[in-house]
Amino acid sequence: MLKTCPTFKSNNSLALNHSRQQADVHSICDSVKTTQTHLEQTESESAVSPYVNLRYVQQLLVKHHIQKHKTSYCCNRQFSTSSPTLLLNNQKTTNIFHCKHSSCSVCSKKIYQDKNNQLRKVFHYVAKNNPKACFHMLTLTIPHNQFHKLDDRMRMLAAMKRALMNHKVIKDLDLLFFHSTLEIVYSKNGFHPHYHIMLSKIKELTQQQIQAIANQYQKIAKKFNIIVNIIKSFKVTSYNNSTIVKAANYLSKSQDFSNLANELVSDNKKYSSNETYSMPQLISLAATNQFDKIVYSKSRVEKIIIEYLQLKNINYFRGCKKYDALVKLSANIQLANSKNDPKPTKYIQINPKAFLALSQNNLLLASEQVDQNNNVVQFEGLLKEHRRNKDLNDTYAYILYLIEANQKSLYPGIENDISFHNIANDHLPFQDLPFSYSQSSPSVSFQSSQLAAA
Ligand SMILES: [Zn+2]
Repeated sequence: MLKTCPTFKSNNSLALNHSRQQADVHSICDSVKTTQTHLEQTESESAVSPYVNLRYVQQLLVKHHIQKHKTSYCCNRQFSTSSPTLLLNNQKTTNIFHCKHSSCSVCSKKIYQDKNNQLRKVFHYVAKNNPKACFHMLTLTIPHNQFHKLDDRMRMLAAMKRALMNHKVIKDLDLLFFHSTLEIVYSKNGFHPHYHIMLSKIKELTQQQIQAIANQYQKIAKKFNIIVNIIKSFKVTSYNNSTIVKAANYLSKSQDFSNLANELVSDNKKYSSNETYSMPQLISLAATNQFDKIVYSKSRVEKIIIEYLQLKNINYFRGCKKYDALVKLSANIQLANSKNDPKPTKYIQINPKAFLALSQNNLLLASEQVDQNNNVVQFEGLLKEHRRNKDLNDTYAYILYLIEANQKSLYPGIENDISFHNIANDHLPFQDLPFSYSQSSPSVSFQSSQLAAA
């Protein structure tokens, strides 16, 4: 049964007879589990794990001689080399360079969370203003095997999606909006990129309309010399707005929308098949050396991750113009369960020279290593310690320890470039440069000049 999400009425799987459905349906959604965090991890370790994954990826890039990949510089450079970096007592850090790749464990946290919130706001807005609105999720994929290059498959799938969404079979539906999210998983048949496209319209899609979209997708595929099996490549799941809007209270409605958003955008999906992995999952297992939990060999896993990291110019998320307008209209909606970071009251200021020295000595992101005599040969990174510590004084003490232990390789007087402060009048002395993903807000561009300057 093609059941996407148990909390939703899923009544509109492409009208195909059951005998065909049973024939090896490669269903993406029915086997996916979204987990909050790795249960076995403690809270502080899961706060640090994005850094652990990032460091693993950075080392992998070095090992495979891949240079100038922006992720290589993520979190170990400053965004502005003329301003200090502040470690705040709400566990945040300012003035750090972020690569903003969706494939980066650190950056994707923010990117996915922002997108998730944005989708939830738009769903709420649309449902509130259009009592008859329906939400349909279309899943598009193409055949794939182990020998296909991810890059090629991806380009083809993106072009096919574009052709479909620009075709009159979609235009004539007079949609309220559509929005696509890309997900890449790896299975024994190689990379499996697929799009989840959310379509919203007044009244449900009819079976005829769904069939027409499916037929058109098949035609488009033919132009690309691909034969798609419609059952495997195209699927519609419907979420009837009335089931959502009639929900007894705002909170349960909000939960429904948040489930739906999680289904579209989540960086911690896990698949129940032990041969299928979401890419963040695969990276996380490899980064923590849990190759016993992966059915593929270590060298194959590394190759997969490298190929995934090198995917260029791909939009993971894209909304139509109507969607972009809805983003603006729904911007002020207050989401339930959204929590604001506590305001910082103290900070540690690290001046650029000190930051650079710490970075050059591998003291920001590394993991602790000891030799056989239990001497530390590599220190636990400062940024990771900072994430773990609830008390900023502990972080400051750790910095002093790092300075003392690494006296020879750091410069004399570095302690004068690192200072502890209380925040006066509620604001920070230096403006943090925003981590901006949304296209509608002004975003800072990270071009090679930025990297060269660092
Ligand atoms: Zn990054």
